[in-house]
Amino acid sequence: MSERKIAVVDPAERDRQKLIMQRIKENNDIDYQRIGKNKLFHILTFGCQQNSSDSEKLKGMLAHMGYDETAKKADADVVIINTCCVRENAELKLYGNIGALKQLKADKPGMIIAVCGCMMEQEHAVNAIKKKYKHVDLVFGTHNLYKFPELLERSMNEQYTLIDIMNTDGIIVEDIPVKRDEKHKAWVTIMYGCNNFCSYCIVPYVRGRERSRNPEDVLKEIEALAADGCKEVTLLGQNVNSYGKDLEADIDFADLIKLVNNIEGIERIRFMTSHPKDISDKLIDTMKECKKVCEQLHLPFQAGSNRILNAMNRKYTKEEYLAKIERVKKTIPGIALSTDVIVGFPSETDEDFNETLEIIREVEFDQAFMFIYSKRQGTPAAEMTEQVEEDHKHKNFERLVALQNDVSRKINDDYSGKLVEVLVDGPSKKDKTKYTGRTRTGKVVNFIASKDIYGEDDLTGQLVDVRINEVHSWFLNGEMITN
Ligand code: SF4
Repeated sequence: MSERKIAVVDPAERDRQKLIMQRIKENNDIDYQRIGKNKLFHILTFGCQQNSSDSEKLKGMLAHMGYDETAKKADADVVIINTCCVRENAELKLYGNIGALKQLKADKPGMIIAVCGCMMEQEHAVNAIKKKYKHVDLVFGTHNLYKFPELLERSMNEQYTLIDIMNTDGIIVEDIPVKRDEKHKAWVTIMYGCNNFCSYCIVPYVRGRERSRNPEDVLKEIEALAADGCKEVTLLGQNVNSYGKDLEADIDFADLIKLVNNIEGIERIRFMTSHPKDISDKLIDTMKECKKVCEQLHLPFQAGSNRILNAMNRKYTKEEYLAKIERVKKTIPGIALSTDVIVGFPSETDEDFNETLEIIREVEFDQAFMFIYSKRQGTPAAEMTEQVEEDHKHKNFERLVALQNDVSRKINDDYSGKLVEVLVDGPSKKDKTKYTGRTRTGKVVNFIASKDIYGEDDLTGQLVDVRINEVHSWFLNGEMITN
């Protein structure tokens, strides 16, 4: 059994960073007196929800230091690119984006350009920036995000690119200010890192080993969110089912959910991501028991063939996966399931791929996030010799997408005429006469709301009932019935 490792939580570090934030704020206040407006920041975020959550922390720290957000890079005094290295195209996009900032910086020499996130935990990416993009002022990684105020202050006084990457798993620093993009729903990170080392995945190398936040800190954060009007929380971690294994307290993920379920004001609880090998009967029963837990589960199966699952180091078989799905469906009838699938993992044959299609047909996922395998430097799968030809991967990918579209459409057909509870995200971006929101099962619903029913109030953040009158593969349309 591997040695139990406790994450280090360091309040002294938090206080040090707070002092630096205060110092920068005082300087910015002096500038405000001079120029009559706050300094501005712009953040470009790539990748997953964990990155979005990190960006919300960066925004929170910048707001504390007296910066306002701007949608225009050219106007910003601080531009941050929060990178992702999970997919190859994100890496390619990054270099294009950094290159494009060169002229902006030439036009505005005081601009600070920072690059952070997963990709900066990889030596080759940091070296590429050092060599080719000398206009970048600051590079930092995922483990030292909490040090951003200190790094920002230092980079303002440096002539060269300041690079600060921690090679350890990092410490957990609580009470970092967060500026959330939405008020009615929030991502709450409950743990960092991953111990699984799936052979295609770079995450354990760039986000380190699993570290759980103390339950008291998680609950304190959610209570504060609820007091501020938040109705839905999504508990976030690379493998939430491992929550608590590294804590001294005797608590697991199911126990944490029960505690969150007791928080007044929170109406909906979601979580991601679950690993099929770790999802327990206790968790499935807890989902059923806790009324605030939404009827939705994201359980990535990745591939249908046991040979490929073994090569991926997923540590479960197709049969074990299907047994867990059966248990979930039996316990929570009508649950919406979603998954991740990789097409074209090294050595995947058509026979293997057909087993993936079989799982899609058998389980009937509401949604699948489908990816074409791409090599990630530094992972075992990148060294595997039998890489599948690009053309072939793309053809199979199209077959998979077509099948999943049919399945999603068929599931959504059952919503026709149904009354659903929707948490309203706001006016629809495409059609301002409608609102948009999500059901408990995670379906996007666009709906017309008659002012006779809801008056002049903005419905954003409210739970409303909507009758579905039109279904599509990826969204539903309807009409609000009551409020
Ligand atoms: S469980 Fe596997 S795929 Fe998920 S983050 Fe960990 S290593 Fe990556």
